[in-house]
Amino acid sequence: MTIPVRRCNLPDMPADSPRQLPELDAAIRDDALDCVMCGICVPHCPTFSITENEADGPRGRISILLGVSQGELSVDESVRDHLDGCLTCRACEVVCPSGVAFGRLIDAGRERLASEPATALQPRALARPFRWLRDGVLARRRVMGAAWKGYRALHALGLGGVARRLSGRLGAALPKRPPAPLATSSRPAGAGDGARRGTIGLFIGCTGEAMNANTAGAAEQVLAALGYRVVIPREQVCCGAMHAHGGEPGPAEALRDRNARAFLDAGVRDVVVLGTACRSELAALESKHDIRVREVTEWLLETDPADWPAMQTPNWRIAVHTPCSQRNHLGQPGATRALLERIPGLELVEIDGNERCCGAAGMHVLLYPEQARSLRAPKIDSIADLQPDFVVSANVGCATHLGGGTDVPVIQPVELLAAAFERGRNGSN
Ligand code: SF4
Ligand code: SF4
Repeated sequence: MTIPVRRCNLPDMPADSPRQLPELDAAIRDDALDCVMCGICVPHCPTFSITENEADGPRGRISILLGVSQGELSVDESVRDHLDGCLTCRACEVVCPSGVAFGRLIDAGRERLASEPATALQPRALARPFRWLRDGVLARRRVMGAAWKGYRALHALGLGGVARRLSGRLGAALPKRPPAPLATSSRPAGAGDGARRGTIGLFIGCTGEAMNANTAGAAEQVLAALGYRVVIPREQVCCGAMHAHGGEPGPAEALRDRNARAFLDAGVRDVVVLGTACRSELAALESKHDIRVREVTEWLLETDPADWPAMQTPNWRIAVHTPCSQRNHLGQPGATRALLERIPGLELVEIDGNERCCGAAGMHVLLYPEQARSLRAPKIDSIADLQPDFVVSANVGCATHLGGGTDVPVIQPVELLAAAFERGRNGSN
């Protein structure tokens, strides 16, 4: 039996090249049979913590996938919901003593659901309105940029709340206050001549002209200050994470290949990525193309602080958030804190429950908004208790989701660094 071919609406997107069902089932069985059903992962699972239903935890999901792949269990709406409700946070994977590759398994599980002929049994992300939202808005940088400009304008007129309420799930996912840029100079802060050390390609993602525009500007300033020429190819596209985790690995790979072409055509082999989730997805470029990929926080940690220009900050209190993509996918749980510890004058505090997903999880915040709000609530309470000047998160999805629940500005670590460089250059606190 062949999985039906489906097309994505992004330009130049080739048809999905799905695995044949027997091959897919064999791959699922291979990974699922590594599980010894010990249950160590179960209390670490955010979705299990909400429903306390075994089928909403990793062990239950593995049992379901095993049953489906062995032909002992048919896919119905309940099976779809238990599998599709997974956040792909991989908190289960990092505590598993048997090394079960849960991230790969659940992606294959959604690919398996995508093979179902009935829409009601497919991943929610493939339903027509969500597919349109993903391919027509979220994955299009310029559309997102225009929509964000509109939201900022309405917010400036005091109509931000109305815009959020009228925009349905998308509006509910927007931050209450669109953040203003911290570092304002367009000039590199410090002595950087912007070419001394080489050329870096900056991957700004779908949100690089919208929610991530301030981060992109800050990263450009920081890289230039450290002596690098920065290239931002306009041909770069979505990293493909939404497709990969939504049951469509074919379009995800096509997007990655387009990004590889965009950077290689621009003569760039070192790519710095804004956002830990995009970095996680683009890691696959390294094995297929002659490209080195780093998220901006990890790239900065590989530089020598002795080469950095002077820094100053006004004793800001910073609440550190650790995205699952940084902690579990990239295996860098301390990266944000390590970078911020290099900036003098900051007081760093941790948000309670940092090891648990905030609920953003790519499109999950739009597909399962109630679950996303439940998972965010304890973090918002913790932020209220901590009373920081800023919340810092290295992933735009998490930053945007957290910003929807608090009036405290939520920014990315590189923005703080750009501001510290700028203040160091001006000699101001
Ligand atoms: S996934 Fe790992 S930790 Fe969880 S039940 Fe299976 S073997 Fe145990
Ligand atoms: S990836 Fe996250 S949400 Fe999914 S089963 Fe594992 S811990 Fe639970």
